[in-house]
Amino acid sequence: MLSFDPEKVPLPAGHLIGGKIHVGHGERISVNRPSDGQFLGDIPDADAALVDLAVTNAHQSWRESGWGTRSPRERARVLRRWADLIEANAESLGRLEAVSSTRPIYDVVNHEIPFTAEAIRFYAECCDKYSGDVLPTRDSSLGMLVPEPYGVIGAITPWNFPLSMASWKLGPALAAGNAVVLKPSELTPFSSVMLAELAIEAGLPAGVLNIVQGRGVSCGSALVNHPLVRKVSFTGSTATGAQIMSQAALNGMKPVTLELGGKSPQLVFDDAGDLETVAARIFRGFTANGGQACVAGTRLVVQSGIAEALTGKLIELCESVEPGNTWQSACRYAPIIDARQAKKIQSIVQTAIDEGAQLLAGGEFFPDTQQGYFFKPTLLAGVGADSAAVQEEIFGPVLTIQTFDSEEQGLALASHPLYGLAAGVHTLNIERAMRAMRRLAAGTVWINRYGRSGDFIIPTGGFNGSGIGKDLGRQAFEACLRYKSVLIDF
Ligand code: NAD
Repeated sequence: MLSFDPEKVPLPAGHLIGGKIHVGHGERISVNRPSDGQFLGDIPDADAALVDLAVTNAHQSWRESGWGTRSPRERARVLRRWADLIEANAESLGRLEAVSSTRPIYDVVNHEIPFTAEAIRFYAECCDKYSGDVLPTRDSSLGMLVPEPYGVIGAITPWNFPLSMASWKLGPALAAGNAVVLKPSELTPFSSVMLAELAIEAGLPAGVLNIVQGRGVSCGSALVNHPLVRKVSFTGSTATGAQIMSQAALNGMKPVTLELGGKSPQLVFDDAGDLETVAARIFRGFTANGGQACVAGTRLVVQSGIAEALTGKLIELCESVEPGNTWQSACRYAPIIDARQAKKIQSIVQTAIDEGAQLLAGGEFFPDTQQGYFFKPTLLAGVGADSAAVQEEIFGPVLTIQTFDSEEQGLALASHPLYGLAAGVHTLNIERAMRAMRRLAAGTVWINRYGRSGDFIIPTGGFNGSGIGKDLGRQAFEACLRYKSVLIDF
């Protein structure tokens, strides 16, 4: 029985600096439960002085503990113990995540927490799987390329998958021997603190991982600008990513990893196979986490011959969904994070309808959930190619439907002028699938599936306006190292 009382979940309501909760000072930010909009707790908004305290402490702890220079296998042992502790504390960590985010407890316990622990284990295995190089030189000197950690990495995460987004940043950075100061989203600030406390319990030197709480404009930008932060790893919207990249350039030319927004197509050919199976994939692709997933496949581009039949199946699936509070074990459908996001979704849908789109399903909030924001899975057909519903990242459970006749037309509709995060290709013709894969400008292409697997070796990251660099995979680990060229004369 996973259900629990949302009033009885203890909240770590502060920053975590040097292993201790720091209540902070100044303005406090209210945090509400997405399921029912009720006040949950508050957090401090870190100003530049507080961020300085956290970064300086991280830098000093990193130096004094020797985290970056100690044996990689010792780092691996700490990370493995951390993963074990995450699993051992799945219930309390899961409750904290479920009460304070859009993630239903069922998903958190069955997917989010096991995936968080496995991501950390994957990076534990990377700890000693890298090397430098010895290079040929023109004279008798010895040339070497020596990998080393950056020092303090600043990590900033969004609200949609708080635990796994944090683990994707922390795993590679800590495995490579860096210290991290993490700023979680102010909308979902709590679970990252518990995650960090478990790391310290596992043997990570206190201070090598600090958490600062607060808004992006205050706390987030102070973290990016801090002179001791040598690299920035960010996941969030493309607009914020652009600001962070320019700030990072102007304040010390810091390298950035940016995992940004998307508007991903699901390209379905009329030889896609069993339509029931295809519909289930498409549906999951745009409704997972209430559509609040960066890789949500929110543009259905379907060949005319099967468009009507596939749409019929999608309508049935849309009508089968029921809302529920995230702390109830039966809940499978996520609420929208807050009123602002809910308004944005409703306004884009309404604009599309005003422009002449046909609403085939949803388009409104579920009744009887007036406090929280559960938006019905929504299908919009006949949407103009320039409509905001087709062009903008909605971050809600809204699927636009566009049809095509030729492969060329389908590929043209599937492309997006800005985003290139992910794409789905559904066809049983492998040659067509490969042709489409090569033509689609997307960081990830899923063929006859939609969504990630639990394989952490497969990196994720966007092309074009969807980002720079990769999370996950060896690539994310290697991006947390920099290479020093050394020449020795004997
Ligand atoms: P957001 O950009 O509003 O905020 C993300 C984080 O950045 C938050 O912690 C926020 O406080 C902080 N922030 C905001 N302004 C800042 C600034 N000027 N300086 C420093 N930090 C700042 O994004 P969000 O609404 O929290 O998350 C949703 C977005 O994240 C969507 O666009 C989604 O596609 C994207 N996302 C991308 C991926 C990916 O892997 N590509 C994964 C998850 C979410």
